[in-house]
Amino acid sequence: MNENIAINQPNCADAVDSNALSVAAAMQRINALVAVVADTELVPIRDALARILAEDVCSTINVPSDTNSAVDGYAIAAADLSQDTPRQLTIVGTTFAGQPYKENIQPGQCVRIMTGAKMPPGSDTVIMQEHVSLQGDVIRFNPGYKSGQNVRHAGEDLTIGQVAIHAGKKLTPAELGMLASMGIAEVKVRRKLRVAFFSTGDELRSLGEPLGEGEIYDSNRYTLHGMLSRLNVEIDDMGVIPDQPQAIRQAFLQASRHADVVITTGGVSVGEADYVKEIINEVGNVDFWKLAIKPGRPLAFGKINDAIFFGLPGNPVAVMVTFYQFVQPTLKRIMGQTDIVQTRFKVPCTTTLRKKPGRMEYYRGILSTDNEGQVSVRKAGMQGSGILSSMSKANCFIVLPPDSESVEPGQIVDVEPFEGLI
Ligand code: AMP
Ligand code: MG
Repeated sequence: MNENIAINQPNCADAVDSNALSVAAAMQRINALVAVVADTELVPIRDALARILAEDVCSTINVPSDTNSAVDGYAIAAADLSQDTPRQLTIVGTTFAGQPYKENIQPGQCVRIMTGAKMPPGSDTVIMQEHVSLQGDVIRFNPGYKSGQNVRHAGEDLTIGQVAIHAGKKLTPAELGMLASMGIAEVKVRRKLRVAFFSTGDELRSLGEPLGEGEIYDSNRYTLHGMLSRLNVEIDDMGVIPDQPQAIRQAFLQASRHADVVITTGGVSVGEADYVKEIINEVGNVDFWKLAIKPGRPLAFGKINDAIFFGLPGNPVAVMVTFYQFVQPTLKRIMGQTDIVQTRFKVPCTTTLRKKPGRMEYYRGILSTDNEGQVSVRKAGMQGSGILSSMSKANCFIVLPPDSESVEPGQIVDVEPFEGLI
């Protein structure tokens, strides 16, 4: 291999490089190139879970449609409340949810009311049944109740004509319930993205094949499968492609014909990098980046035909870090998701973390709460970019910004919990 080329290629183990791109700059370049998928489809709301809403949903009705009781008790008029003496009112009827009481309540009267029942005309307050003593058809209750207590107002959840759910929302069980509460049976969502991926590397064997000397099982396709499944995209696992120019070329062209996004792992660092780099430049318009992050230094990004392309590093943890930091937000953007909240907060770190300034580092961390309720984070074992077992133990990334140095026990660090991130 040509020594000079090898030296100029980015590699995970390289020292800090002043030409390396920051996370923010890389994200900016990515965002400049991607657009929201235009196609939409109408789906029954049960099938809309984890899909991205394509247009605002306005409420066609008030929810709740009628002002109703929040508790089981007695509907009264506030004029019958007293601030200082106990009151007595006569029960003139009973109302259940779905069976409204239609007559006007007169002064001195009340109606027995169940949770969810429409407030009888003339009533505006409900006395909880636990707060009354009952003698025949007369209730007696102590002073202190306020006008309007225990009443749910028409439209207090969703008001007619207002946007109830905004376009770009990833639909969760709560929205399925909201849609149903408005009587909406179908919603327009963005079509699912098609994501194709393959691994490159002569040393890689697929599951079920025997391992020869120096060979390893391909694990990246499985972490990718898992990470992509959570994003609810259509997955096309194209297998392992050997380090042969013709095979790689063909795989890229095949993938880009039907996929919105093509992801590869491996082949972008020192070594066989020349192949992948050469071929992706030939079949597409691809930038090859050195990123100022650890792990995950080399990354290729661009377009092959109409497909967006990510060439991730080969090391299993570098794949996961670059996926979560770059691929996942990009996929969400393409699928039109706008309700993206990145949870990051500060906690003390109880272990030493070695770091030189110059690049963003993602340590695998374990967040935990002690007996006093104090949250802290510690390093989750060995941090080599091939060590997936520490990724498995971790429940967060500890994010150390480029200018930071080593962290000593007790120091405050930023963490991104995996739940919320994924
Ligand atoms: P590369 O970028 O192709 O030089 O790969 C970097 C390291 O990641 C090497 O040790 C590879 O063997 C390893 N690697 C690459 N692809 C995979 C994969 N799909 N599964 C597990 N390890 C991989
Ligand atoms: Mg390789």
